[in-house]
Amino acid sequence: MTKKTRKFRDISNFNLQQNENEYYLLPFKFHRLNNDKEIIVNEVGDYLTLPNGTVEKIIKREINKIKDTDLYGDLISNFFISEEVISPLIDVLATRYRTKKLFLNYFTGLHIFVISLRCEHTCHYCQVSRVTQNKDLYDMSLLNIDKGIDIMFKSPNPHITMEFQGGEALLAFDNIKYAVEKAEKIAQEKGKILSKVICTNLALINEDILEYCKEHDILISTSLDGPKFIHDKNRNKPNASSYDLAINGINLSREKLGFENVSALMTTTKLSLDYPTEIVDEYFNLGFKGIFIRNISPYGFALRSDKSKYETEKFLDFYKKALHRVLDYNFKGHFFTEDLARIFLSKILTPFNVGFVDLQSPAGLINGVIVFNYDGSVYATDESRMLAEQKDYTFKLGTLDDDYDDLFFGEKSQEITEIWANEGLNGCSECAFQQYCGADPVHNYATQGNMYGHRPTSDFCQKNMEIIRYLLELMENNEDIKKIFQGWVKVRS
Ligand code: SF4
Repeated sequence: MTKKTRKFRDISNFNLQQNENEYYLLPFKFHRLNNDKEIIVNEVGDYLTLPNGTVEKIIKREINKIKDTDLYGDLISNFFISEEVISPLIDVLATRYRTKKLFLNYFTGLHIFVISLRCEHTCHYCQVSRVTQNKDLYDMSLLNIDKGIDIMFKSPNPHITMEFQGGEALLAFDNIKYAVEKAEKIAQEKGKILSKVICTNLALINEDILEYCKEHDILISTSLDGPKFIHDKNRNKPNASSYDLAINGINLSREKLGFENVSALMTTTKLSLDYPTEIVDEYFNLGFKGIFIRNISPYGFALRSDKSKYETEKFLDFYKKALHRVLDYNFKGHFFTEDLARIFLSKILTPFNVGFVDLQSPAGLINGVIVFNYDGSVYATDESRMLAEQKDYTFKLGTLDDDYDDLFFGEKSQEITEIWANEGLNGCSECAFQQYCGADPVHNYATQGNMYGHRPTSDFCQKNMEIIRYLLELMENNEDIKKIFQGWVKVRS
């Protein structure tokens, strides 16, 4: 006897006739911006700010096509509601969603080579347990460099970035040269675009090194925490001013490589919190086109020192003051950006996402970045190897002796990637800012003890939510600021 199966009735059996108050809701989320306004955001990050209470009316089907023409039109054209069960523009929405997730198309691009753990600085917030001696033990061997390059070129990504980090990377400059020349040869054979970056405190930079960097198109990335009194205090160098060395290094590097090939990053310490204006001014006066206001990472040595810890509220207060100082320069006619805001704004104001591994969903770890440590171990992110320096190997994917598939798709990777998308995380899944934010299992683990994390007590969430809310509020209240922000994202970094 054949089993009877129930069939769906034809769509004509359902009463889908609509009157002027009937519409269908497309997926969107909402958030209260302040006492007057709320925001709705759809699946591709389009947003509308509305008077408080409007969301309730939308959901209760109280928005009238005739009486609320403008709002109704905005809701239809921005994919918040549809007059048909399936919006006729569903394909457009799907294309836009794919565009937002385009960063997933090519797989891992950034390959960090921790070329040496040795360093001659003693920064109090250093995230790795740097060492001063024993080259043989703490520099990446040529054999491991070979293995790392071999794995790197197995990535399907046509654009590979090779970043040399330390310790102080320039202490192992001969090994960098070896790696660069070998990788360049293979890139040419395989038809890949290869970018190279050296992260350095610049204390050891000289004309010969820069000549080599110029010849091989190597970019320089350095650290600058602000004016001399802050930088020297944060980045202690026995018997020398780390600030003077950094500034001389920046000037020399710019002279040889050009302004655009030298970048700097700041870290906010407890000391920095009182000097937002001075720090922004330092970057502006040195001719940088922007500043990235970064809070301290809760990893490695940073957590051990009282000089580094501060509450997220204090950082947010500092951040807002710094942002307004940056805006002051823009009001005077200069193009000068705050780069964390710029990342969020690119997601809010453009159809694109940004290839920034700390703010992606799925997270940037493994599919955006991978770390080859000096000792041959492989980690999901730079922060993961910092945890490993404290003997926590949770994010160790394997070693350079493992197969590509075992590293990138093995058991450990699968465990991490189960919770790497904020779309599936409690708290994030219903958050209006989900499309602008990201997921960070390593941060969750380091700060909250598990990869999943707990949003109501997460400093990552608190920081991102308030900065996004603040940027939206600024744009809502001030057309001139909105125009400045639009200008920042027109020039895509
Ligand atoms: S971390 Fe917070 S702000 Fe970011 S998506 Fe999740 S809930 Fe929203």
